Amino acid sequence: MYDVKFVYGNLVLIAVTEEKKKKVVALLSGGLDSQLAVRMMQEQGFEVSAVAIKTPFCDFDCGRGCGFEIRERADDLNVNLKTVYLGDEYIEMLKHPKHGIGAGFNPCVDCRTMMFDAAKKHMEEIGAEFIISGEVLGQRPMSQHAPSLHIIENESNLKGKIVRPLSGGLLPPTNAEKDGLIKREDLGMIRGRQRKIQMKMAKEYGIENPPNAGGGCLLTEPQFGIKAKDLFDHIETPTINEIDLLKIGRHFRLDEETKFVVGRNQDENEMIKALALPGDILLEARDDLGPVSILRGKNAKDNVKFASSITLRYSDAPKGQQGVIIVKKGDLSEEIKTDRAEEESYIKFRM
Ligand code: SF4
Repeated sequence: MYDVKFVYGNLVLIAVTEEKKKKVVALLSGGLDSQLAVRMMQEQGFEVSAVAIKTPFCDFDCGRGCGFEIRERADDLNVNLKTVYLGDEYIEMLKHPKHGIGAGFNPCVDCRTMMFDAAKKHMEEIGAEFIISGEVLGQRPMSQHAPSLHIIENESNLKGKIVRPLSGGLLPPTNAEKDGLIKREDLGMIRGRQRKIQMKMAKEYGIENPPNAGGGCLLTEPQFGIKAKDLFDHIETPTINEIDLLKIGRHFRLDEETKFVVGRNQDENEMIKALALPGDILLEARDDLGPVSILRGKNAKDNVKFASSITLRYSDAPKGQQGVIIVKKGDLSEEIKTDRAEEESYIKFRM
């Protein structure tokens, strides 16, 4: 704060001007760690502007925790929020991630690099000094070990420009530290997966309902990873529609050209109908409550009978009785009488 005096005759005016705060850009995931990183920087007098990244695998709406309620979190933190969608370029990256995938189908190093690229653009746009993230050294197996942090910095051309406030005291000095913008003693020394320190900090900073650890990245989930790998193995460039279909239902790979997905509840049934494309075949029991299923691929027609029996199997149709399945393709519709499939006939196709 500066006081400036203007003297006119015997009248003294005092103008008070705010010292302009230095800006930083935060990668905000909605998780606790990135919120804490923001608070730490605000406490040190920076104006924080947040960037949140959406991908085809996280639309912030699934409620799993990653970007869930991100707008509310940004408002609570009193930061501007810019949302960046990485769509086609993310799918392209996922076809051949330079640094491989983790235990699921998660290309964390390449993914983080893309996220930092987006944050870098925002940093340059608004004239911010550096980027912060809530990464904690050693917390995640793939992207938060020192060598990975180093690779991510190099690949996004941000060497020395990424500050990780929670673990900064354990990491080499960044440009901000060397230039005296931040001090080492103000940085955290958190390492590993425990969350005790973060929970204590959340309390001190008044962060209410801190989200669960672990975020919600679908790509890290082993079961989802199997389905995603199968999709990328069978289709050169999957579409958003195909990726959205991955997120719901029981999935069966019937042959190299054909997939079959069975809804698990009313919401999924509605979503399957909404995702159906011309050429897809929808199946539903006529008289029994049960799933909407979808057959997709070149050999879909050849699999209708089998798919009908599986659809009936997942319906309320009593065991040992036949049922009728309505089979729809575009405007065409037919009814097929079928037995319930026996588990051993279809379980080998389940992903
Ligand atoms: S966990 Fe998911 S969102 Fe996070 S870096 Fe890995 S792939 Fe990206």
